Amino acid sequence: MSGIDELAAAVRDVEDFPKPGIIFKDITPVLGDADLFAKSLELLGETAGGQKIDKVVGIDARGFIFAAGVAQNLQAGFVPVRKEGKLPWTTRKMAYTLEYGENVVEIHEDAVLPGEKVLLVDDLLATGGTAAAAVRLLRALDADVVAASFLIELEFLKGREKLGELPIHSLLKY
Ligand code: AMP
Repeated sequence: MSGIDELAAAVRDVEDFPKPGIIFKDITPVLGDADLFAKSLELLGETAGGQKIDKVVGIDARGFIFAAGVAQNLQAGFVPVRKEGKLPWTTRKMAYTLEYGENVVEIHEDAVLPGEKVLLVDDLLATGGTAAAAVRLLRALDADVVAASFLIELEFLKGREKLGELPIHSLLKY
């Protein structure tokens, strides 16, 4: 099996979680396998296309796991975009709707400097609301968002349409 096929085989579908009708893509079996976890980080890092990345931004909470590893591999800093009320310093906020509910995300206003090259990383692109809110936050800080990369994309939810012209990469598409 190729790396991608092995990753796909490891992702577990959990029906009706966290609500009836949602098929939750459980990535914990990927994390629990040292080789698969490393492979996922390597492949996500390759989506930067060799560009020098200053900051890898991860989205609360599963996005942190992948973004932190990718940041280390790319010798970039890691920046968290968090759910409302979790960050201690001065923040920018952005509201959005997601596949199951509504949310507000925040970033520390000094986490990314103007002009810094940023790679946005999350575990899964669903409706795109979360990633679009994160991109708006980053652009409000004058960051240069070079791409958004996901382990998984639920293509039928057309999340990439919310992200405009930004290059979008996903390792596994459903
Ligand atoms: P969205 O804003 O709709 O693109 O939602 C993306 C966020 O919600 C990601 O951070 C995912 O972690 C989570 N998410 C949404 N739908 C699913 C799903 N079916 N399985 C696992 N995580 C999901």
